[in-house]
Order: sequence, then structure tokens, then C-alpha cells
Amino acid sequence: MSVDYKFFAQVNKAFDKAAEYTNFDKGLLAQMKICNDVLHVTFPLEKDDGSIEVIEGWRVEHSHHKLPAKGGIRYAMTVNEDETMALAALMTYKCAVVNVPFGGAKGGIRIDKSKYSKSEIERITRRYTYELIRKNFIGPGSDVPAPDYGTGEVEMAWIMDTYRQLNPELNAEGCVTGKPISQGGIRGRKEATGRGVYFGIAEACQNKQDMEMLGLESGIEGKTFVVQGLGNVGYHAAKYMSEAGARLVGVAELEGSIYDENGIDLEKLVEYRKDKGTIIGFDGTRELEGRYQVLEAECDILIPAALENQLNESNAHNIKAKIIGEAANGPTTSEAHEILKKRGALIIPDNYLNAGGVTVSYFEWLKNLSHVRFGRLGKRFEETSYRKILNVIENISDRKFTDEEMGYLAQGAGEYELVDSGLAETMINSYNEINELRKKHDVDLRTAAFINSIEKVGRIYESMGIFP
Ligand code: NAD
Repeated sequence: MSVDYKFFAQVNKAFDKAAEYTNFDKGLLAQMKICNDVLHVTFPLEKDDGSIEVIEGWRVEHSHHKLPAKGGIRYAMTVNEDETMALAALMTYKCAVVNVPFGGAKGGIRIDKSKYSKSEIERITRRYTYELIRKNFIGPGSDVPAPDYGTGEVEMAWIMDTYRQLNPELNAEGCVTGKPISQGGIRGRKEATGRGVYFGIAEACQNKQDMEMLGLESGIEGKTFVVQGLGNVGYHAAKYMSEAGARLVGVAELEGSIYDENGIDLEKLVEYRKDKGTIIGFDGTRELEGRYQVLEAECDILIPAALENQLNESNAHNIKAKIIGEAANGPTTSEAHEILKKRGALIIPDNYLNAGGVTVSYFEWLKNLSHVRFGRLGKRFEETSYRKILNVIENISDRKFTDEEMGYLAQGAGEYELVDSGLAETMINSYNEINELRKKHDVDLRTAAFINSIEKVGRIYESMGIFP
């Protein structure tokens, strides 16, 4: 069967556009773009009713300029070689933008998860992991998967358990990230991608000049937003946006889309969906026609957090949002990107905006290799030091701190606080880095992010003399 490399070609198109602003050798640029290793696996699944089904999956390691290679595992019917290659390439560029020292990778299994029982999903996951082990496509120093669309902590725990049983080595826990905390995971990983999306959008909204150009006030408070996909990334992005004072006015899920200009209570909506199995009919909201209509609804910020190619030639002309926050990978086709850009929209690109997940995965991997929880050594020492300072302040002034004030002011940093601080630092610094390149070259943020990664990865290749 011939493969149509449409999505991968789209990523390469953006790469080529950015490469014009760099001075690297053509051959080196070609090496940077290609996928180093592409693995296609097929294996049998014995279903609960005893029937046999053939399951198909992929793992792609796009770049080995740094090791391990890193990237999520997706369970969806969209999974194919083209999609996995495109997503693996995006991982290389994304890691470079946020200075996470990994090459890019991606994996996927072509299944509709809702059609399988939990034990069937477990057998699929464990067998897929076995295939990755046998072909050397997983390991704490070579290739480290993570969650993506359709997968989460449970699948990561099965992957780690399968790997560790077959490789009972010291650092085996570091073979996968996004694990439950009890299995070597890290506090803050589950929400990291959505939280990073929030940090990135908030930083963009601080830019007075950009906001004036869009006819918006600075800051995130009071801005209206629409989210497509209430999964891990979409839910957490919406949660932190809402907590910061932005107003959720529209939501799309598989069953359709809803809108309410007065605002939607996210937590109540999630409860409602759990109970009724749909978002339709939720408290005071208006049902729109089909699941795509809400993408064209009135709002300041549109956050696509589902799959690729959602903003395309067929709807880009009707999209009213002034800011597009690409939480999903590849949600905007190159044609739609041009249409939206022409209209003056600010597109915060996927290869920067959803990098919070891999950033905290990097922290989890470091935790696994060091075998110690962040904050374990210093937290109590910090608290004691702060208390001593506060006691001195009490002694030289009339001020006596209440127990509550003392507890708050003398708090040492635990794992969650350190992870959150590292994530905020990464997302904010990286935004400003790509924004500088955007101004310097008079390009959009996507091209600026690509220039940033091409420069970083290219310099690594150059410093090796030529290819290893
Ligand atoms: P998820 O499976 O947790 O959630 C995706 C949600 O989107 C689901 O609730 C699904 O029902 C919904 N959905 C699918 N198609 C839709 C459509 N056409 N309209 C409306 N809703 C739709 O997946 P996720 O982990 O949140 O990933 C979402 C996107 O974010 C993907 O593009 C993924 O590659 C990207 N991403 C995820 C992570 C991560 O840490 N999980 C990291 C970086 C990027």
C-alpha cells in the first residue's frame, strides 16, 4: 500500500520556510528533516470472545541528534505512518524550542479504543511494548514514550511494567513517562500540557503591542475562549484559563458543540458529561449544528485540543477568533494558517505551545534516573531557614505572625511546586525567545519557532563535524 505523506509534508513545508532564514548546508538540513527509523508492527489480539484480530502500530524515531528519543503514544483510527512520522518530527522541533535534551519520536496504534474492553487494551499495550523491546525501540537511554491522544497513566503503567519485567535494570522506570505517581510518575505531569498551554497563551496576552493590534486588552482576564476536545489537554487548558479569569464560551466534543456567551462552568460541564454521556443540553447552553460549528463562533481565543487538520480551507475563512492557541498537534493546515494570518490572527504554534507535556516528562525522567523525589532533600531545610528569618523579623519589630501566616510564608518547595515553577520558567522563556526571532526576521510565531529549533539542532550536528 503506498503511503500519502501529507501531514509529514506539511511539517516539512513549515521547516523549509524557516530554513531560508538559516545558513546551514542543504545536506545537513535534509538530514535534520528525515525520520531516522520507522518501525511498523502487526500482531494478533485474542479478543474476550475468543476471536482473533490483527492490530497495527508504528513507532518512529525522527532524530538521534540527542538521546533518548522522546514522544507520545497515540491510540486512534487516524494513526498511520504519515501521521506518526509528522508527529515524531514535530517532537524534535518542540524539544529544541523548550531546551529539552531529547530527539523526537512518536508511536501509535490504529484502534478505536471505545470498541475494546479494558483487558483487551491491556493485552494490546503489553504486546505493542514487547514489539518495541524486541526491536530496540524503547529504553531509558534510547527511546522513551509518553501519553498522547487516547492514552494516559494506565497505559504508561502497563508499558513500564512490561519493560521492567523483561529488563530488570536499575533505571528501568525511566523507560516511559506520564506514569501514575505510585509507579515512578511525577506530580504535575497529568496537567502539564494543558497548564503549559495556559502559560503560553497568558504570556502572549501580556504583549501590549500584539493585543492592541488585535483590538484586545492586555492580560488573560475577561477574554472569551472556545475549546475543541475536553480530553487531558483541552480540559486542563480550559481549567487554568478559567481560573485566571478567562470566560469559556464554547466547547466541542465528539457528540457535538455548545455555546453560551455568558460563560460555561467547566467543572459542572465535566460532571454533566460524566452523568449524561454528552455535553449537549448543559445548563443554559445553546447546541450548535454539529461538532465543528463552534470553531467558527464568536470568541477571542480558539483552542483546538483534539486532532490535526481541524482548521482547514473549508472553515478558516469563517473563524472569528483573534488568537489561535494550538494545543493539539498540527490542528491548522498550511492553507488555513495563511488564511488566518492574512486576517491578522495571532497563531501560537503547536511546536511551542503544547511542549509543557514533554517538559514535565523530562523532569519525570530525571526523577527516575536520580531515584529521588524533587524537594525531598531541601524542603524541610528551606522551611527551617524561612522560619528563622521570620523569627528575626518578629524580634526586631512588633509584628507577630499568626500560625497561618507562618505556614504560608515559611513554605518550602515540594515536588509539585518545583515542577510547576520549572514548567512556567520554560514556557515563558521560550515564548520570549521565539517572539524575539519573530521580530528579528519579521515572520510569524510558527516560522520563528522552527528557526529556533533548526538553529539549535543544526549547531549540534555541526559541532559533531559531520554525521556520526
Ligand atoms: P485525549 O484523548 O485525552 O483527548 C482528546 C479529546 O478530543 C477526547 O475527549 C475526544 O473525544 C475529543 N475529540 C476528538 N475528535 C474531536 C472532534 N473532532 N471534535 C471535538 N472533540 C474531539 O487526548 P489529549 O492527550 O488531550 O491530546 C489532544 C491533542 O493534544 C493531540 O493532538 C495530542 O497529540 C496533543 N498533545 C497531547 C499531549 C499530552 O500530554 N497528552 C502532549 C502534547 C500534545
